[in-house]
Amino acid sequence: NPLFKPDMNPDESLLERTIRPRRLAEYIGQMRVREQLEIFISAARQRNEPLDHTLIFGPPGLGKTTLAHILAHEMGSQLRQTSGPVLEKAGDLAALLTNLNAGDLLFIDEIHRLNPVVEEILYPALEDFQLDIIIGDGPAARSIKLDLPPFTLIGATTRAGLLTSPLRDRFGIVQRLEYYNTAELIDIVQRSAGIFNIPADLNGIKEIARRSRGTPRIANRLLRRVRDYAQVRAAGHIDYHVAAAALLLLNVDDCGFDHMDQRLLHIIIHQFAGGPVGIDSLAAALGEERGTIEDVIEPFLIQQGYIMRTPRGRVATAATYQHFGLTPPNATIN
Ligand code: ADP
Repeated sequence: NPLFKPDMNPDESLLERTIRPRRLAEYIGQMRVREQLEIFISAARQRNEPLDHTLIFGPPGLGKTTLAHILAHEMGSQLRQTSGPVLEKAGDLAALLTNLNAGDLLFIDEIHRLNPVVEEILYPALEDFQLDIIIGDGPAARSIKLDLPPFTLIGATTRAGLLTSPLRDRFGIVQRLEYYNTAELIDIVQRSAGIFNIPADLNGIKEIARRSRGTPRIANRLLRRVRDYAQVRAAGHIDYHVAAAALLLLNVDDCGFDHMDQRLLHIIIHQFAGGPVGIDSLAAALGEERGTIEDVIEPFLIQQGYIMRTPRGRVATAATYQHFGLTPPNATIN
């Protein structure tokens, strides 16, 4: 069914599926999210009701899709997966909704990219499990109502603020995923190394974890690349030196910043004298879309204290200058 989400890279996504945790108990970190969901799942199961509609937001690779699968598994339900941009017409969504079974979870990734016409159809479906559709054109058009089986919508988006408020208001559960700390990423890398039988000692694993941008998907990807390096250059075993050498080659710096992060910081310092610089100027200088900067690149740099968002634009901090071995100008924010 083309309305369901195609996998972008089959090999990579097969790997991701292999290491994807299946139970809430295997989901590492995100303590607050886990604790709340545990309660909501148990309560819904005790009442024999579907879980309330759930919105999960946070930067890419933090585990939104994984969590959607886990919710389905824990509810003993099936997960149907699609994404906002795939549902072009009202009929696309109607077709999906009418094919759901009672208790199914419908996962819509990038839900902020739903066509407004499609979004309209979703409101009564979420509220009353009803579908209002118009059949025919012009004076002959008539509206019919269809009952839908009770289901749970799981929406994922990079920022909750991208959703229209009527859509956001229809989610009974809203969870925000945070970047993972090094200890949590160590657990994640260790678990993946175990699954793939990759020989690695704790210091090697720690170095990968520490430089993964707080992101499990990046941690798992770096693990695979460091494994390649170890296999070709170091008899297969990952220790601190092997990990550090491989990450240097991959252009991942000591803070885990990749090439894009480094360029962005560099541009703020050198092209805009440390800022403030507006997001659109920054996007033009970097040659990236504004949305990519806002959703993927800058949140981690802000969280780590290397960029400040001010009303007049983005500003480099003292840490940014120090990161590149430069002396911060006097007025720089610490
Ligand atoms: P998103 O949907 O937010 O982009 P995914 O759910 O696809 O992210 O997660 C990317 C990968 O990271 C998954 O393959 C999964 O193995 C791993 N992952 C994400 N969150 C966790 C977690 N909490 N514990 C262990 N592995 C995780």
